[in-house]
Amino acid sequence: MNILERYEAMDYAPAPESRSEADAWLKGRDLAKALYIGGKWKAGSTGATFDVREPASGKLLASVAEATAADVDEAVKAARRALPKWQATSGFERARVLYAIGRAMQRHARLFAVLETIDNGKPIRESRDVDVPLAIRHFIHHAGWAQALETEFPGRAGVGVAGQIIPWNFPLLMLAWKVAPALAAGCTVVLKPAEFTPLTAILFAEICERAGIPAGVVNIVHGGPETGEAIVGHDGVDKIAFTGSSEVGKIIRRATAGTGKKLSLELGGKSAFIVFEDADLDSAVEGLVDGIWFNQGQVCCAGSRLLVQEGIAEKFIGRVKARMANLRVGDPLDKNTDIGPLVDASQLDRVRGMVAEGMAQGAACWTPDAELPAAGYYHLPVLATEIGTSNLLAQEEVFGPVLAAMTFRSTDEAIQLANNTRYGLAASVWSESVSLALHVAPQLKAGVVWINGTNMFDAACGFGGYRESGFGREGGREGMLEYLTAPKLSGRRIDPAPALSGIGARGEVETTGLDRTPKLYIGGKQVRPDGNYSIPILDRKGRHAGEVGLGSRKDIRDAVSAARAAKGWAEATAFNRAQVLYYLAENLAIRTDEFAARIAGLTGASTKVARAEVDASIECLFAAAGMADKFEGRAHQPPARAVTLALHEPVGVLGLVASDAQPLLGLLAMAAPALAMGNTIVAVPSAAHALVATDLYQVLETSDVPSGAFNIVTGRASELAKVLAMHDDVDGLWVVADADTCAVAERESAGNLKRVWTSGGIAPDWTGWQAMQGSFLQRAVEIKNVWVPYGD
Ligand code: NAD
Repeated sequence: MNILERYEAMDYAPAPESRSEADAWLKGRDLAKALYIGGKWKAGSTGATFDVREPASGKLLASVAEATAADVDEAVKAARRALPKWQATSGFERARVLYAIGRAMQRHARLFAVLETIDNGKPIRESRDVDVPLAIRHFIHHAGWAQALETEFPGRAGVGVAGQIIPWNFPLLMLAWKVAPALAAGCTVVLKPAEFTPLTAILFAEICERAGIPAGVVNIVHGGPETGEAIVGHDGVDKIAFTGSSEVGKIIRRATAGTGKKLSLELGGKSAFIVFEDADLDSAVEGLVDGIWFNQGQVCCAGSRLLVQEGIAEKFIGRVKARMANLRVGDPLDKNTDIGPLVDASQLDRVRGMVAEGMAQGAACWTPDAELPAAGYYHLPVLATEIGTSNLLAQEEVFGPVLAAMTFRSTDEAIQLANNTRYGLAASVWSESVSLALHVAPQLKAGVVWINGTNMFDAACGFGGYRESGFGREGGREGMLEYLTAPKLSGRRIDPAPALSGIGARGEVETTGLDRTPKLYIGGKQVRPDGNYSIPILDRKGRHAGEVGLGSRKDIRDAVSAARAAKGWAEATAFNRAQVLYYLAENLAIRTDEFAARIAGLTGASTKVARAEVDASIECLFAAAGMADKFEGRAHQPPARAVTLALHEPVGVLGLVASDAQPLLGLLAMAAPALAMGNTIVAVPSAAHALVATDLYQVLETSDVPSGAFNIVTGRASELAKVLAMHDDVDGLWVVADADTCAVAERESAGNLKRVWTSGGIAPDWTGWQAMQGSFLQRAVEIKNVWVPYGD
């Protein structure tokens, strides 16, 4: 074809990126010795290797050393040895190292991009223009955090050795998201790339070697799930940072329960792409192409559920099909390619299987009429319509180029459909009305919302999910917190409760008369416990001081329903919440003597100490009221034509379990910040001194606390903590209890991956509540990043 004929045909000529440098890199290395441990290159202890194939051809690319548990042990020990010196290194020195890594990556940007494309199959345009520049930006951005650590995070230190496990869809970028904040915080790392895509991590280790990273600060081990398990289970690891599937995230949540390891989970998603009828449809189509077909749909935040307003649905779907017909599927090294192969034959089988199952459940699947290359793991883009909300393609993460399209009529229906998923990672909202978009964004249960855009990321803006999309954020200030210790709790160890939780020795008594039954406080009312059982409470001399209700699983369920229904509390203005908390404090103050006498009588504390506890409780309520309208989000200015609003939202329904020490202050020091941030709570108070909590009912009733915002269920704390942990409609759980109860709470929370904080078996000395309130306020919010682009 000569140039005129080409002009006539308006067809693309092939524009392949050269792979010679990457091939030479591969040829020049013995990847059977690709473990990077303690600054040395090693083979695995058994000498075993695993094969890495090129997705575009299926051909063998390399055989890479596989790390056994013994190799992981060696890597963790190397990281531990390197830790004290690295932590003692000045912030400035660590900043220089991070900057040096960023600069070295810039110099090798092309090699990184080509290697990533060969290894993963993603189009070179994406690895060159997105993955590699973002990874570099991450290191350079975090150089600043390293230097600013002491001033920006006073009282916090690096958590220690970080075990990091990443998936195959953005191998280098996920590495950068993990390694950069860890190094900035003064942690040392043991990182495991995914077994399909180890190559850019090996090149990265070479860069570390050349950038002068001290031996043992960065260790990279390769292998599959067993290698990952060895990292998760290793006693020498202080923090696990995991990105991958929700299934494995839950396994890791259970495995780390009770170990004291800090944990962040970045998991899957089923993100909604919402198009309102006043949207700029052409822009929305382009956004959708990026939203679902970027990286062949193998993106955790892929906009895989299109929700389009009914009136424009036909027109919009028509334009989507026309655009799909123009997507170029083929060689990922060609700069014109839009869609490359999937990462592996097993992933191709999985996607094919899910499409077939979706069709069996009634979906109509449309694909453009295009030819696929003869070799490689290619799959055509798919548009699935006629799907019910329960169809597999509407509910499950396909992690492939499959778009499920549905329609909606009203704004409320769009929000309800968008939230009809167990995930909560991201969402896109398309409307020319910014006020409509900003009305919808806060109502979406998602960690990131893009308005008139999609797939916008930046190192300064946190990324991460709600619900089963995991917890913790990567990027920015909140990402740094994941690698830093919270101010240390001081206090005494809590002993496991005896059979009756240290409550009276008389055992359960069935009350006879209706009026004599001690009550729980649920939905703003005093209600009888479901089983009508009560437990005796003894005073400091072992005398019978009164009875409280023995709350059960059913009572917790009722309390959670009441807390869920109390939507008005989250929606109230922060000023309004502040006033209610001030009023609560005021009403408690009126009854100071009574509460002090109760505390002294039950706990044996002196009158002075008991009074001080009531005074501190009042002060603590005041402080939380004061912060209700001040502990706010931020606005970021990323290097794009956009502002990113990092909004603070309540976690939702929070379970609180308090211990026997300081029964009033211990309960209110958690309840006050939780309520201030708009959460509704189900509190299980001190078991032994529960009469202090039942005395609170009247204070709550007279303080304008809305029904259901503050529920109290008395009973055996360890049992009720477990019930709260297992409850799928509880979004977060804070437990102060013995070590076993804390471990059970963490393990049983895996079902819906609720956010759990435990005291790890310590009864904190709540007289120091001021120093702790900041951490509780932080725990009481989810940070949602809303991206708002601007310009013509
Ligand atoms: P995966 O969970 O199977 O594997 C992820 C990593 O975990 C791999 O390195 C794997 O070897 C390792 N692993 C597997 N089993 C393990 C175990 N029992 N213990 C420890 N490690 C184990 O996920 P994948 O298929 O590689 O990646 C796709 C998933 O990752 C998708 O669900 C996607 O949504 C998610 N993802 C999430 C984000 C995010 O930021 N939220 C980003 C990218 C990908």
